[in-house]
Parts: sequence; structure tokens; C-alpha cells
Amino acid sequence: MTGVFFETGSLFSGPEPDPAGDAGHPDPPARVGFFTDTSVCIGCKACEVACKEWNAIPEDGLTLTGMSYDNTQGLGASTWRHVAFIEQSAPRQVPAESAAPDGRTHLPLAEEDPQRPAGDVRWLMSSDVCKHCTHAACLDVCPTGSLFRTEYGTVVVQEDICNGCGYCVPACPYGVIEQRKDDGRAFKCTMCYDRLGAGQEPACAKACPTDSIQFGPLDELRERAALRVDQLQEASVPEARLYGHDPEDGVGGDGAFFLLLDEPEVYGLPPDPVVTTRDLPAMWKHAGAAALSVAAGAVASFVLPALLRRKGRR
Ligand code: SF4
Ligand code: SF4
Repeated sequence: MTGVFFETGSLFSGPEPDPAGDAGHPDPPARVGFFTDTSVCIGCKACEVACKEWNAIPEDGLTLTGMSYDNTQGLGASTWRHVAFIEQSAPRQVPAESAAPDGRTHLPLAEEDPQRPAGDVRWLMSSDVCKHCTHAACLDVCPTGSLFRTEYGTVVVQEDICNGCGYCVPACPYGVIEQRKDDGRAFKCTMCYDRLGAGQEPACAKACPTDSIQFGPLDELRERAALRVDQLQEASVPEARLYGHDPEDGVGGDGAFFLLLDEPEVYGLPPDPVVTTRDLPAMWKHAGAAALSVAAGAVASFVLPALLRRKGRR
């Protein structure tokens, strides 16, 4: 870490153009990330399965929740990708025709069915994952260095260094990271750090049959995502919006961002996440000022009178 963060706050909040460089990686490669376009997710869960298989993650329950066709419920120590199934009583507004952005396969969307009764159910499906935040509070609070910033700008937890203190769990503004119940160590998505080192894309992106999960340099993904939103809005899907793409947001932008078709809360995402360590520099400053005041008070109350009494006796 550089020593400038007390003056600028740039390592705890706000835009951060080079997280890998500021973490000490000399001449890092372009920052990479995920763009998850939920408008083309079909809920096949190939991403969940590929993640489990590649990373050898243990099975953690296959029972249906009773609330939907979701059988994994949420992200956790043994679920690093989670496909949410959201059922809504709303008519589908699906355009009959739309062009694909440059370089992408045209995916014909379903025709609207005039026979379908108003108020019919629609499904929103979204593959959630660790956001690999620009300002990652999980990493900031980790006392062992188990969580670290890689040269690709991603956030990885090393299971052999984690001591199970659990500080990272409440620090994450998205509720992503979790301790495994049997040994207390924390686990989450590593964006397949081992595959990146071998020049391969993460297993979930490789397995996704619809390109709902796209992997690549973050700047390119942001451009592609903006084009996709324009395309959907022009094709009568005004509710299409991006989430987590903005470097000016409360976490400095996410390394894994999303195209959503409804409010973030509908998908179980916080509408306005803020890095939980944002106010630490101000808190330390206030704590330092308070400690100085106490010390000055003690000097004024005890030391000075004692010195004056001593002088008076001479
Ligand atoms: S989403 Fe949570 S676990 Fe993932 S990098 Fe951000 S703070 Fe850490
Ligand atoms: S693999 Fe792709 S289409 Fe299938 S559930 Fe995951 S994100 Fe959706």
C-alpha cells in the first residue's frame, strides 16, 4: 500500500483506476472481470455446476426451497455461483426482433403470446457471484493476508492462510463471503485464478451456453454492456439497466457487474452498496484526536499541578 490514502481516501473509496498496481503488482495486466447479462440467462445452472466441478467445491444441499425452483438459495462458502430464479406476476414485454451487438450471436427472443392472460408469471434469472469490488472491504479487514488483490485486479481468498476469524463476513456489503461450518475458514469465488494464470477464462463463463456470463478486460466489458443496454431499450425493454458498472459508486465499481431487468432489490442485490471500510480514515483521525485530548486533559489535571506544587515547596 502507498502512504497517500490518508490524504486522498483513494484506497478506501472513490474511483480507483489501478487496484492491482496500488496493491503492489508492478506493471499488472489489464484488469479483468465478469459482465453477467441476465436478459439471456436461461437458468440452466451450467455455471454453478462448472464452478463446483473446477474448484472441487463440496455439495451443500440439493433440496428445493419451496419458494421457487431455486435449490441453492444464495451464495455461500460452497456456492460460489448462484442462479437466482425470480417469479413475477407481470406480463412479459418481449420484443419480437432485436439486433445483436457487434461480435455477438443474435439470440431470437420469444414472440409475445396474445393468448397469454394479463398478469401471467415471468421469470427473471440471474447468476450471482462475488463482485471482486474495486474497494474490497473483505480484503481491508483481513488480518492474515488470506484475502489479497491479484495482478488481474480480482480478489482471492487463500484457504491455507485463513484463520477463521470471520471479520470479512460482516465487512462484505453484498453478503457474499461465508465461513464453512465444519472448520470456520472463509470461501468465495476466486474468478478461477488458476485458470487465468494459464490463459483460460473462468469455468462458469466457459460453460454458459448463452453468453450470459462474459469474461474479459473490464473496460471492454463496460463498453459492450452499454451497447447491450442501448439495444434492449431500443427494442422496447426500457427496464434494462446496468448494476455495479460505475467507478463512481460506493465501492468504486465492481469487477463483476450485471445487466438487470428490474430493480436490484428484486434480485436480492443492495441498491446502493458502500464499502464498509469507507469511513475508517476519518474514524482513526477522530480516535487520534480523542486520545490527544485525553492525554492533554491528564497533563493539565495531574502533571501540571504536581509540578507547580513541587516548585512551590522549593
Ligand atoms: S463482493 Fe464481498 S467478498 Fe467479494 S470482493 Fe466485494 S467485499 Fe469481498
Ligand atoms: S450457464 Fe449461463 S444461461 Fe445457464 S444459468 Fe448460468 S448464466 Fe444462466
